[in-house]
Amino acid sequence: MATMRAARLNLSTGTLSVEDVEKPAPGTGEVLVKVEAAGVCLSDVHLVRGYFAKPRLLVGDTVTLGHETAGTVAEVGPDVAGWKPGDRVVLQAGEIRDGQVWTRGVDYDGGWAEYALARQDTLVALPDAIPFEQGAIIPDAVSTPWGAITTTAHVGPAQSVGVWGIGGLGAHGVQLLRAIGACPIIAIDPSPAARERALAFGADLALDSADPDLRAAIRDATGGAGLEFAFDFAGVTPVREQALKVLAPGGKLVLVGLSGQPITIENSTKFQSAQFQLLGHYGSPQEAVGQLIRLEAAGRLDFARSISGVMGLEEAVEAVERLEKKVGDPIRIVLRPAA
Ligand SMILES: [Zn+2]
Repeated sequence: MATMRAARLNLSTGTLSVEDVEKPAPGTGEVLVKVEAAGVCLSDVHLVRGYFAKPRLLVGDTVTLGHETAGTVAEVGPDVAGWKPGDRVVLQAGEIRDGQVWTRGVDYDGGWAEYALARQDTLVALPDAIPFEQGAIIPDAVSTPWGAITTTAHVGPAQSVGVWGIGGLGAHGVQLLRAIGACPIIAIDPSPAARERALAFGADLALDSADPDLRAAIRDATGGAGLEFAFDFAGVTPVREQALKVLAPGGKLVLVGLSGQPITIENSTKFQSAQFQLLGHYGSPQEAVGQLIRLEAAGRLDFARSISGVMGLEEAVEAVERLEKKVGDPIRIVLRPAA
């Protein structure tokens, strides 16, 4: 039996370990991808720590993590058209099966391994100009805020936006909002380093969420109106309450980061009379990854600054800890299997 290394999470015990597993073989319509880079996401930390319920679609107790994956085609199964060994690819972070969204590395085995299986329609070509590390993080770290901004919220030019949480999703959110012409872009984060990063990535203003004058500062920056959009990229309950207090009439609060916690609307009459909207967002439409690859290949977007560190697949447990403890304030840590 051919084996490979894979970082597997046992969801019953919460144990993450890098172990030998059987190297998968591609079935009909499937492609086996040699993984070159795989991103470490806050959702992975949450999965490891058991903050989410056991994925309802998962068969068994153990899954190979990793929903941000780039690599090269190693083998193609029967009835695969358009892909051949050696092709550089990025994998969509999930797929639709029987009308349900299945998330890679959550509901089925993902990219924290030497090889990953993928349905052929979940492959997106990665041009040579984009390094694997940057390609890997496009599904999710970049495509999720992109989907939230362009598809769920429909933010337009010169519209005012607040971005809470300048981590993996929010740092890209700021960059993408800048690209589509949102203005002003106000970043809110308790970490001074994160606020500095937000300004470097294109925020017009960066505020401390603990600042007692936060509401006044947002009012001043929006001509007294408040925010047309508030994005919670952090998945943090107090953020949602704070955001609802600084929305303009008709403003939209968009939930992007996952918290698993209930959301409270303190004053429902105000919520109704101001005609606020609360929008849930998850993942991104299929076309988002291709759009972002084209934009990066054309030089309109650059995710080089997003790669905070590259670690070996064998160091997956340490990578999760580094992200959880925010060691070095990472945007994205990327795992690379040994050559
Ligand atoms: Zn993620």
